[in-house]
Amino acid sequence: MAPTSKDSISSSMEEKSKNGMATSKPRLLVGCNPLLLQMKTSIRGVMAELKAAANPAKSVISLGTGDLAIHSDYFGKRRAFGDAVAAASAHFDSYLPAFGLPSARRAVAEYITNVVRKCRISRSDPPLKVTESDVFLTVGATQALQTTLTVLASAGGNVLLPRPGFALYDSACKLAGVGCRYYDLLPSRRWEADPSQIRSLADANSLAIVVINPNNPTGAAFSSHHLCQIAEIARDLCIPIIADEVYGGMVFGGGTFVPMASFAHLAPVFTISSLSKRWMVPGWRLGWLVICDPQGILQRVREATEMIMNINPGPASVIQAAVPAILSDENEEFHANVVQLLESCVDTLFKGLKQIEALKCYSRPQGSIFVMVEIDTSRLLGIENDMDFAKQLMKEESVLVLPGFVLGCKNWVRLFFGLPNDLLMEACKRMTSFCQRRMV
Ligand SMILES: *Cc1c(COP(=O)(O)O)cnc(C)c1O
Repeated sequence: MAPTSKDSISSSMEEKSKNGMATSKPRLLVGCNPLLLQMKTSIRGVMAELKAAANPAKSVISLGTGDLAIHSDYFGKRRAFGDAVAAASAHFDSYLPAFGLPSARRAVAEYITNVVRKCRISRSDPPLKVTESDVFLTVGATQALQTTLTVLASAGGNVLLPRPGFALYDSACKLAGVGCRYYDLLPSRRWEADPSQIRSLADANSLAIVVINPNNPTGAAFSSHHLCQIAEIARDLCIPIIADEVYGGMVFGGGTFVPMASFAHLAPVFTISSLSKRWMVPGWRLGWLVICDPQGILQRVREATEMIMNINPGPASVIQAAVPAILSDENEEFHANVVQLLESCVDTLFKGLKQIEALKCYSRPQGSIFVMVEIDTSRLLGIENDMDFAKQLMKEESVLVLPGFVLGCKNWVRLFFGLPNDLLMEACKRMTSFCQRRMV
């Protein structure tokens, strides 16, 4: 009889023990960081599981991960970023300074200063000055947020996070050993939060409030009034705001983008962004963290940030060296075109979703590249929850969506809409027939 794999393992172990190389004693597993084992879900893990379930007879349409580079041709000709990188690569083979290449830090400082100046809310507010020394270059926005949370972490502390949210904040908080408290983004209020809920969640151990604007996953672009309300809460609590603005400037359909740093005179702001979304090069891993602290109350935080930047690796020299060229040309035409196309993507998706009774959208996205859709499971035979919906949809129709439970929203799904119109229409068609087959 052919040996099973189990047999072959045990016979080879016996052989080894005859040679005195190993014993047959049961082995103890080597320990590891328990915090990592407690993290049961990650977006990438869930996506991998869903991708494996695709119907081989249909090409996959991904409304899952928000990677604009996949369809970058559709969004028009970008500036020749590649040329900038090629030029830079000739001169930058050495280690760079730990906080980033000075010319690149300067370019980011100028960029942020201009964005804030352009959106200045009230002429009476002091204009924000950001300089090179306020900017730290990071490996994507991801490292910027991980750095910020590690720097602010203290035993027994908690961070106020939006729900639905962005899963990396949860894992970064958990790894840093701080608690997560969730304030709700409310579909009935165009996904703005209830300021009194944020206040009621906070206590003396609260370390920061995270605000993602324009918002992933809801597509909201928060009003300056709402952002000011949050800044006032932070001021009263004497804590900073972590402003994730990776979709900064990506607004449409009547939405406007107001940078949180406009309110830095009320409470200090860590502005986080990257080249990944607006410039559509997520694989380049170039992000930044900007400390906006006109009151000068983050001196110790700044020291700690410099320390962690001295320890951690930064982005590749070649990409850093290309940053001034990439940011100096605002390339208005390209960005305006992207925004217009994103708006038409929303139109197409909304028209399609309207035909599907079991799916409900509360408000049209005015920013970012995502929308949250509620699933009425009572209308769909055999669908218990969002993961069920995502998995069976993939199995039958090869349409990939992100189940909301990974974002803290059971029975919702997040849809990425940054893809060509014909693909969006096809995705809607497939979702329509999927739901029709199960309609109660
Ligand atoms: C994509 C994304 C990030 C991560 O950006 P990278 O530059 O790819 O690391 C952070 N926050 C939000 C809200 C995002 O959507």
